Amino acid sequence: MLHSCQLYLTTLCDASCEMCLVKSPKPGTANHDAVMRNVQGLARAGVRYVDLTGGNPLMFEGLPEAIRLANQFGMISSLTVSGPLISRRGEDIFGLPSQLQFSIDGTPAFHDANRGAGFYQHIVNGLEMAATLRPGRKPAKLIFTTLPGHGGNINIETFRSVLALARRFPNTLVSVNPVFGGQYSPEEERLLRWFGRQAYVQMSRGKLRFLRQGGNNAKNPFCRATSTSAAITADSKLRLPCYHRAQCEVPLEEGLANALASPERREALKYQGRLPCCEGCSIWCYMMPSIASLHALRFAFPYQQMMVAGQGIRDSLLRFCGQYWGSFPNCHPMK
Ligand code: SF4
Ligand code: SF4
Repeated sequence: MLHSCQLYLTTLCDASCEMCLVKSPKPGTANHDAVMRNVQGLARAGVRYVDLTGGNPLMFEGLPEAIRLANQFGMISSLTVSGPLISRRGEDIFGLPSQLQFSIDGTPAFHDANRGAGFYQHIVNGLEMAATLRPGRKPAKLIFTTLPGHGGNINIETFRSVLALARRFPNTLVSVNPVFGGQYSPEEERLLRWFGRQAYVQMSRGKLRFLRQGGNNAKNPFCRATSTSAAITADSKLRLPCYHRAQCEVPLEEGLANALASPERREALKYQGRLPCCEGCSIWCYMMPSIASLHALRFAFPYQQMMVAGQGIRDSLLRFCGQYWGSFPNCHPMK
């Protein structure tokens, strides 16, 4: 079931992150009316969560109107920001989204070396604004994406610096986010788990487990990118099966409903998570909605649990028989 959207407002960005997967050779910003139309279309399609993203979404002039419209339709609006525009536009914007996040890479020196000189100070300014503009609202978050290995930011001092910044402001959390496709050494994983146990810190151990298990399995996919999420580009196209590994795009001039019913999307629903490039994938933008949909299924159809229990009984019986006849011990594919 479609419940979330990554709505790209621009591919322009003033940062220079090494890990960037989004910047385009032909950068551009969305058309204001098209964005408003697409937000309406998303609401009609039953989408509950919209991530207004980019590039740097603060470079989209009509951002406040887009957030207000999403809020009016009762959607959860999410915004992640970085860079000098935080200081220039924050006052008008930071009170609006349901969720407000600041991307941070570590110590001031590390952050500025990765993104641009002086970028760290704009996060500090943004947190000050968020503290006054969002009293009693959902906490603002520092999204700390951890890079493994040499030259990465996974060391305890970097984390302490991020946590110390969060603790200077009321109502601020740190969300530790393992990078897409990251492979962490046991020592790095131990550090990440320790980060996750500190006060005011969020970290999903499930993400670590998923990475350790090698990410998405293209033969038995976990990913439900196309069925749970709509990835809409800055030039107003539905990208399939997901934004990052697009196989095709459907223009949205005829409306989102038509694009969602298109043969291209029906086809993508069949191959989502099953392409060669899907093997080992861990793009959280899609894996998290996929998890949500699997949990929803579990609650909606308790018979699935009965089937799992039934399989357990069958396995026990096979093992019991195998002890007597010596022919069944490895007959179950889960072994
Ligand atoms: S802020 Fe985001 S879009 Fe901009 S360079 Fe960094 S990763 Fe890329
Ligand atoms: S597994 Fe990754 S690449 Fe494949 S459809 Fe899902 S999100 Fe896209």
